[in-house]
Amino acid sequence: HAKGAGRNRLAEFVPAMTAATLRRAALERDLRRAVDAGQMAVHYQPQFACDGGELVGVEALLRWRHPEHGPISPAEFIPIAEETGLIVPLGSWVLQQACADVAGWQRAGAPALTLAVNMSARQLREPGFIEDVTRALADSGLVPAQLELELTESLLMEDVSCAIAFMQAVRAIGVRLAIDDFGTGYSSLAYLQTFPINQLKVDRSFVQMLPQRGETIILAVLALARGFGLTVVAEGVEEQRQLDWLRLAGCDVVQGYLLGAPMSADALAARYLKLATT
Ligand code: C2E
Ligand code: MG
Ligand code: MG
Ligand code: MG
Repeated sequence: HAKGAGRNRLAEFVPAMTAATLRRAALERDLRRAVDAGQMAVHYQPQFACDGGELVGVEALLRWRHPEHGPISPAEFIPIAEETGLIVPLGSWVLQQACADVAGWQRAGAPALTLAVNMSARQLREPGFIEDVTRALADSGLVPAQLELELTESLLMEDVSCAIAFMQAVRAIGVRLAIDDFGTGYSSLAYLQTFPINQLKVDRSFVQMLPQRGETIILAVLALARGFGLTVVAEGVEEQRQLDWLRLAGCDVVQGYLLGAPMSADALAARYLKLATT
């Protein structure tokens, strides 16, 4: 009896595994051509000042529209890009594209916004990366202090001395650094005084517990940040009462579906910057 059930489960499991393996192989193959095929786009999620409510920045989030499978989540394709090394050219493309978009809005009359770009571990070890950043800034005309690179705790802890060298090189050209998904990784608090960072992004898992839970952790992060002279962004704000709580607690910047979801460059320019789309 049990044997029969086991066999059935195996019979279901093997084809499922094969399908996943085939999809992964196909995505890896298609990812190599996705930029040239025009399937990639950089979307932007707005970030707002907690007290004034004005737009202060955007986070660049990569989007892939596959010709057969439709939109593929970054949670699925970013790991493939990281494992294959494709994240290096892809990451440079995002940087170039995002700097050009934000600088373009500014030339069209929009205020100077901060641009946050997510980083993968592989890019830290890439010798040409700082040069890529310098080029993206020079080509676009964006001021270095407007660019902020987001690193996760796990990425920083993978190779601490490499990460510190990278961060120092980034700060030397005037670009800012943030720790993304703060509080979910395995970094030691002691590193906060060693890492030359500017900002902490409280992970949305804490923000979404508000107001019943999560307060203690967020208040502790705000106190830590204040002590080290860092600003705090709360991500994943979905409810008005979460926003109200964050404002009262003295959070600096908020980002989340309540205030605006990630959207195309044209949509952001039209909706938040009142610029006519070209
Ligand atoms: P992340 O950097 O932590 O980005 C925030 C994620 O939360 C985004 O998911 C965003 O769409 C989502 N989000 C924003 N507001 C809310 C909200 O109110 N509620 C909920 N539930 N979610 C919200 P997305 O775009 O799917 O990106 C997932 C992750 O993929 C990012 O997490 C980032 O780690 C990675 N990623 C995206 N673009 C890039 C990229 O260009 N390069 C690298 N290396 N990683 C990227
Ligand atoms: Mg991020
Ligand atoms: Mg995050
Ligand atoms: Mg994340």
